[in-house]
Amino acid sequence: MFNFRKKKSPKLFVIGLDCAPPELVFQQYRADLPNFSKLLSRGAYGNLRSCTPCITVPAWSVMTSSKDPGVLGIYGFRNRADYSYDRMTIATGGSVKEPRVWEILGQAGKRVVTIGVPGTYPPRPVTGAQIACFLTPQTVSTDEQGNKITKTFTYPAELSTQVNAWAGGEYIVDVKQFRTDNKDFLLEQIYDMGRQHFKVVREMMKSQPWDFFMFVEMGTDRIHHGFWKFIDATHSKYEPGNKYENSIRDYYKYVDGEIGELLKLLDEDTAVMVVSDHGAKKMDGGICINEWMLRNGWLTLADDRPTRLTPIEKVEVDWSKTRAWGEGGYYARIFMNVQGREPEGMIPPADYEKVRDELAEAIQGIRGPGGEDIGTQVYKPQAIYRKVNGLAPDLIVYFGNLLWRSVGSLGHKEVWTLENDTGPDDANHAQEGIFMYYDPKQNLGGRELKGLEIMDFAPTVLQYFGLPVPADMQGRAIQLQENN
Ligand SMILES: [Zn+2]
Repeated sequence: MFNFRKKKSPKLFVIGLDCAPPELVFQQYRADLPNFSKLLSRGAYGNLRSCTPCITVPAWSVMTSSKDPGVLGIYGFRNRADYSYDRMTIATGGSVKEPRVWEILGQAGKRVVTIGVPGTYPPRPVTGAQIACFLTPQTVSTDEQGNKITKTFTYPAELSTQVNAWAGGEYIVDVKQFRTDNKDFLLEQIYDMGRQHFKVVREMMKSQPWDFFMFVEMGTDRIHHGFWKFIDATHSKYEPGNKYENSIRDYYKYVDGEIGELLKLLDEDTAVMVVSDHGAKKMDGGICINEWMLRNGWLTLADDRPTRLTPIEKVEVDWSKTRAWGEGGYYARIFMNVQGREPEGMIPPADYEKVRDELAEAIQGIRGPGGEDIGTQVYKPQAIYRKVNGLAPDLIVYFGNLLWRSVGSLGHKEVWTLENDTGPDDANHAQEGIFMYYDPKQNLGGRELKGLEIMDFAPTVLQYFGLPVPADMQGRAIQLQENN
């Protein structure tokens, strides 16, 4: 029993805000955000539980395909290319083999537009138009004579020139570097990118025919990572009265205003969804996973321990005496060195599960700087995914339930660090993102929905359009109202 209002020709407009957390949007900032407030009080909304790991690159593809990271074979921003020790590749749109919801809508004859949805570079043919995501390498290049050349980052290809023109010359897919101490410059870039993106969204809304329109803005993610310590009084580096105290609130007010402009362009038969791929929370510090591996006999170096910070790839490892190592990131990926799998594997396959359990328990026991239990969670891919395709990590770890990140480099004085080895970053991802649904002609009374999962998005969209949900989708269409 589902309860979308029946429409002759339904249209759906989806606003994706990367990393937008429920606490800010539904609570702390709500009173300052008139447009969000309208959607919340007349629509239905709830926390949207992300996948594990709750990381942008897998998460948006999980959301739009309703397949878990194991089925997709995408376990993070970077994935193992093979069982060698050093080959990792960035998961591009080409890694996504399962159909995304707009492709299914296209097969049903719907016109679709997608803009900036992570997992869409390189762009693919759609029944409409697609502008690629934040991983697009460049939108403009310069030839030997100094002429600007438009690169292809759209489907159809000729749209790229038009998008660059709307953007005033060069369409920005992401800020240049969000892990920086130059906060004013970062803020300026986030706003410049936002103004450009929302302009392109408006132009696309007006110039393209569409039934389904979805865009994702990355500025929300970038501002959380860059400014969280200034706004969160519980952050260890927070200083009351600092000049960026309202930076994130002001940015949400700006985004709310832009969304208000978009809502004015929608007719009464178009419903709106607002979604995020995960939330955000403060980051207390990092656990230096390979330092820990080294000190606890899992990892052995061929040379002396580095005395200054050195990425694990730059260190000579004695693989014949190494049982496991880890990757840095917002969460840890742990790899085991297994006979017959890795080039110099040493764990006999028969001992794999026993060693994996021993390692999982030891990692769970890594203490914080004060000797405290930080509440680390360790996952086996086979236990949390329907299938484990591609090259999964042997273990996936949330240190301190994501209040701590994973640090891959060596040369740290301790097993934990308060500085990030890849540049300043004050926020980690949180498991819960947001979902909002609003139909201008159906007052849902601001009902709060419970138990929503990221894989529910695609089935909900299909149900909105009155289309069947493929049996292999893992989510379920969201119920907007109680059955009656
Ligand atoms: Zn994200």
